[in-house]
Amino acid sequence: MTSTIPQARTGYTVPAVVGAQLCVPLVTGDRIGYANLDHAASAPCLERVRDAVNELLPWYASVHRGAGLASQVSTRVYEQARDTLRRFVGARSSDTVVFTRNTTDSLNLLARSLPRRTAVVLFDTEHHAALLPWRGPNVRRVRTPDSAGAAVPALEAALRECPQGPRLVVVTGASNVTGELWPVAELAQVARRHGARIVLDAAQLAPHRPVDIKALDVDYVVLSGHKLYAPFGAGALIGRADWLQAADPYLVGGGATKNVVDWGDHLGVAWSAVPERHEAGSPNVAGVHALAAACDTFIQHGWDQVEAHERTLLARLREGLATVPGLHELSLFDAEHDRVGVVSFTIDGLDAGLVAAALSAEYGIGVRDGAFCAHIATRRLLGRAGSTEQRALRASLGLGSTAEHVDRLVGALRRLVAEGP
Ligand code: PLP
Repeated sequence: MTSTIPQARTGYTVPAVVGAQLCVPLVTGDRIGYANLDHAASAPCLERVRDAVNELLPWYASVHRGAGLASQVSTRVYEQARDTLRRFVGARSSDTVVFTRNTTDSLNLLARSLPRRTAVVLFDTEHHAALLPWRGPNVRRVRTPDSAGAAVPALEAALRECPQGPRLVVVTGASNVTGELWPVAELAQVARRHGARIVLDAAQLAPHRPVDIKALDVDYVVLSGHKLYAPFGAGALIGRADWLQAADPYLVGGGATKNVVDWGDHLGVAWSAVPERHEAGSPNVAGVHALAAACDTFIQHGWDQVEAHERTLLARLREGLATVPGLHELSLFDAEHDRVGVVSFTIDGLDAGLVAAALSAEYGIGVRDGAFCAHIATRRLLGRAGSTEQRALRASLGLGSTAEHVDRLVGALRRLVAEGP
């Protein structure tokens, strides 16, 4: 029985159909024609992710702690998931894979593990998960320039002014507000020239494009399962082990310890090595298995058709939105800059919250309204578009999106502009 799950996993068959049909969302709303255009928040589960979890559930047990068969199976599944994640991001053999709850958790873990007096450099339009975990006088926020090309010299200038000592650059692969791609490889080269490490926030990039640690030459990658067509609750921090190994455990408790002894006036504790060092408590075996199943699907299927599906729909969406009177699309860089399927916009005279509510109630369309946990970016871009609003609308595409969803959104917006929400 120990080999049942691994065999089943390698036996996944990639369906002949691609694009929208690669993914069969599990939301019941899908059956009533719900148009989920909010993939950037969380993506629906792949069928194979559901199947993988169902396979595991009868053998679900605490890992690393039990002699029983279920515990052995679960331990094996959990450790195999590390290998899958490693392959998914093209990790170096020396890289560690720490399982976390999500991208936010991963970045907080890294922030807690930095050597003393590490200088941290980041652009100011980051998602809050990447913007906020860094504390202290050595954090340098660089104003995001108007072009991706200008980001490279801007980072260079900031690093030149950094104090000597360890340095970390934080960069996002794709903006969760505009979908625009950041020039990660170029920024990594700058970081290298200045002896800095670089962490890639791949929360929005990983569901849309391949991520390759070695090709990009980044030190760490962080991602979330729920944006990658797996359920909530599992994410990863993948990268160089040394800082994580030198740091105190992120959480303390069982699993993070090799030995605890009572010395009378205090407890002597020998902490485990990474990755267990930062995985205290009973881990989320099913979540990690689900995340690995999603990554495995992309490893097997490749990215060409996924990307082509999304590019076609994105072009259709942007062309359609351009026909809506008074609609302004938001861009960090410029309208032509390459991006994943995420588009934010504002509409003259219409409240984003009311529009989002009307789209949901009257048209069965799910979009996001707000400042998308990137308040600085969203408000700056709204200001640049001439809007006094604090909230924008965001439509985001994924494997579950279809041309009908896009056309329905465009048609609905045109009607709302004409008739009011
Ligand atoms: N980084 C980016 C670019 C994101 O879009 C998000 C979520 O929207 C996060 C980080 C945080 O992800 P999570 O909420 O899964 O921790």
